[in-house]
Amino acid sequence: QATKKPPPTPSPLRFSKFFQPNMRILVTGGAGFIGSHLVDKLMENEKNEVIVADNYFTGSKDNLKKWIGHPRFELIRHDVTEPLLVEVDQIYHLACPASPIFYKYNPVKTIKTNVIGTLNMLGLAKRVGARILLTSTSEVYGDPLVHPQPESYWGNVNPIGVRSCYDEGKRVAETLMFDYHRQHGIEIRIARIFNTYGPRMNIDDGRVVSNFIAQALRDEPLTVQLPGTQTRSFCYVSDMVDGLIRLMEGEHTGPINIGNPGEFTMIELAETVKELINPNIEIKMVENTPDDPSQRKPVITKAKELLGWEPKVKLRDGLPLMEEDFRLRLGVSKKE
Ligand code: NAD
Ligand code: UDP
Ligand code: UDP
Repeated sequence: QATKKPPPTPSPLRFSKFFQPNMRILVTGGAGFIGSHLVDKLMENEKNEVIVADNYFTGSKDNLKKWIGHPRFELIRHDVTEPLLVEVDQIYHLACPASPIFYKYNPVKTIKTNVIGTLNMLGLAKRVGARILLTSTSEVYGDPLVHPQPESYWGNVNPIGVRSCYDEGKRVAETLMFDYHRQHGIEIRIARIFNTYGPRMNIDDGRVVSNFIAQALRDEPLTVQLPGTQTRSFCYVSDMVDGLIRLMEGEHTGPINIGNPGEFTMIELAETVKELINPNIEIKMVENTPDDPSQRKPVITKAKELLGWEPKVKLRDGLPLMEEDFRLRLGVSKKE
């Protein structure tokens, strides 16, 4: 006669008041620029286990090389437009190319990533009861008619332009987040990220800060797109990561602007890069692309009041840190 197996004894640790299970965190797009810095910060906490899902479209394993093989880290080649089955407590959903050159390269794929990708991550959040944070963008304000931009502004977006796959894609992603929140009670967080820069940006990413630094180091003219008076506000990546984590850990759904309110014209940015990195370089005016927003500056009152967050790194301090990283990767040493 078969003896009945006793039920497994639960580990006494499970019931100890000292036991706190690890927090398992999914970062989609974690092999990209902001994602990999976020992973570095999350991995500093020994109670975090991090899973990255990325299709390597604009990201690379290289950005995560120090974590590959770490027992609390896992990297999955996965496209978020396909369903994903993992068991996690939190989801930072970043997967989406951020540079206009890359998001315009395959616009249909960009909108699928934003819409189907976000739907899948919300379906996952619903199944496992995870809290999910979406990295939305200042592009939801389009070419803004209100300046600077508070979260209450609904934006001025061209629905059929060449940037729409990204702008409108992110707007639908925000809608999906709120509908899952209202309809299914999912815990959501939405960050509206303004232009972010720092080490590990793709050298040929096409965005203005990486272009100017690479050009300055290669002794090529800095290409300012006309009219050059258009403005942007640039946030250093460590400040951005700090803001995203505070938003995830806090009690507010957002949307909350995360960005640096320092506002610069593209000519001012070129002059600053010239002064700091290569005073001999020429500044060249070139054609612009359609629908380029003429101004961009966040109102960050909500981030300050609700998250206790504000950026610490000024543009003049952040650019040299990025220069150092670009010098290493381009193999250009500093002339003494
Ligand atoms: P990035 O291009 O460096 O990173 C995006 C990552 O997502 C890459 O690793 C890429 O391979 C991955 N990815 C793209 N499509 C995917 C898909 N279908 N499935 C799985 N992975 C996919 O860009 P970033 O600057 O790190 O931006 C991260 C997030 O922040 C994006 O959602 C972007 O829209 C948002 N954002 C960035 C900025 C900025 O200035 N960098 C501004 C506003 C919003
Ligand atoms: N989904 C996923 N992982 C999960 C659960 C769901 O990728 O763990 C996807 C699923 O394939 C679906 C989407 O998320 O396409 C939305 O899921 P939901 O359950 O909300 O909707 P339904 O499956 O009923 O359409
Ligand atoms: N820009 C520029 N030179 C470049 C690349 C971009 O003057 O080599 C300008 C571009 O016209 C825009 C601003 O810089 O006004 C920011 O462009 P980017 O592509 O970096 O980001 P986004 O338009 O998404 O804010």
